[in-house]
Amino acid sequence: MAVTRTFSIIKPDATRRNLTGAVTKMLEEAGLRVVASKRIHMTKDQAEGFYGVHRERPFFNDLVSFMISGPVVVQVLEGEDAVKRNRDIMGATNPENADAGTIRKELAESIEANSVHGSDSDENAKIEIDYFFKPEEIVG
Ligand code: UDP
Repeated sequence: MAVTRTFSIIKPDATRRNLTGAVTKMLEEAGLRVVASKRIHMTKDQAEGFYGVHRERPFFNDLVSFMISGPVVVQVLEGEDAVKRNRDIMGATNPENADAGTIRKELAESIEANSVHGSDSDENAKIEIDYFFKPEEIVG
């Protein structure tokens, strides 16, 4: 299995409850290495651009408002099969449906305030990493 990278966001519900460390610990214990990390407060434009694929979905405006409601931590994660490994430890979108031991089951508040984002493909991981990070900010 190849070592690859994925993109992660620790969302405002998690930073608000001081769970940055708890989330990162679960990611690291799942075999992912944080090779870039920064705490930012997204602008509305940034959040709308990031979630552009969801623009037509009914939850889009609420999601953007939530994502700019407080600081987030954007991260690049590296590991074997990083996209899948991260999706596995994140758990299902709706925490009610997430498996025990996943970040969303253990920490998330709701289907919207679900504590973490993770890229869903290698292709999107590259796009999302490039959206937030310059190459020199990533230290593998
Ligand atoms: N979301 C929401 N309501 C929904 C579905 C999704 O508020 O009915 C939010 C939630 O924060 C989710 C994000 O939109 O993480 C992106 O949705 P997606 O379907 O891509 O889920 P993910 O890949 O994050 O599990």
